[in-house]
Amino acid sequence: MRLRYSRIIVLTLSLLVTWGSSARAQLEFLAVEKDVVEQRFRRNKFGNGKRSKEVTTLFEETGCPREHLSLEKVKRSSNPNVACTLPGTTDAVIVVGAHFDAVETSSGAIDNWSGASLLPSLYFSLSHPQRKHTFVFIGFTDEEKGLFGSKFYVKQLTDEAKSKVRAMINLDTLGLSPTKIGVSGANPGLVDAIGTVAGAMKLPMSGPSRIKSWSLTSLQQRLMKTGGRLVKHARYYLVLLAEGHLNRRLFGEMLARLAALPAPGG
Ligand SMILES: [Zn+2]
Repeated sequence: MRLRYSRIIVLTLSLLVTWGSSARAQLEFLAVEKDVVEQRFRRNKFGNGKRSKEVTTLFEETGCPREHLSLEKVKRSSNPNVACTLPGTTDAVIVVGAHFDAVETSSGAIDNWSGASLLPSLYFSLSHPQRKHTFVFIGFTDEEKGLFGSKFYVKQLTDEAKSKVRAMINLDTLGLSPTKIGVSGANPGLVDAIGTVAGAMKLPMSGPSRIKSWSLTSLQQRLMKTGGRLVKHARYYLVLLAEGHLNRRLFGEMLARLAALPAPGG
C-alpha cells in the first residue's frame, strides 16, 4: 500500500545548528505518522527469510526505486542484506543499519524488528528534498549468529568506498527505555552533543557510563528479548518512543548534526 500524501505532513524546521557553526539552517523532511510506524512494526514475520522479504517490500512501498534497492548475498547466510540507497548531492555516505534477523524461538519483535521496520520510514522521511549526504539504509542479515551481514558489508567495500563513509547509525532494540549513554571508545564530541540535545529538550537521559565490554548477549538478556508479555509492553513503549522521545524536534536536531558532517565539495 502506497502512502497517501494526505497523511503526510511536510515540515520545514528552522534550527539553530550548534555543531561548529551558529548559522541557521533550513531543514525539511517528510513526517511519517505514528500509526504508520506502528503498522509497519506489526508486520513482523516469524522466520528470518520472511523478514528479509518484508524489509524489501516495505522499502518498495515507501518508494525506494528498484535501481536503488539491492539484495546483497552474504557468505554463510541464507538471506541477503537488504539495502536502499538514497543518493545525495555528494558521495559522502551515512549508513543507517538495523539487523532484521532474530534468534530462534524469539518473535524478534523488539530485537530487532523494532529497528528494521523503521528503516523504510526513515528512508521515506529523508527522501525529500535531496540531501547533501548519500544515505544507505540497510537491513543486515544474521547479526545474532555473529554479525555475518554487517561484517560482510564492510568487507566488500573498497578502501575508496570506506573512506567515503562519514557516520554509521545502528538501530537495535528500540523503545524500551529513555535514552541511556554507554561509552566504549566513543567520540567525546558526540557524547557531549547528545547530552546537550537531551538537556535542551528536557528529555530523560542517564549516563554517560563506561562500558568495559559491550556484550550484546547480556544486553539482550537484560531486555528479555523473548516472551509475549514483553512484546506487548514493547509495543506500548514504541508508541511512547515515536511520540515522546523521537519527536519532530529531536529528529530535526539529529538531521542538523548529520548535515553538518563534512562532505567533499559539499
Ligand atoms: Zn539486536
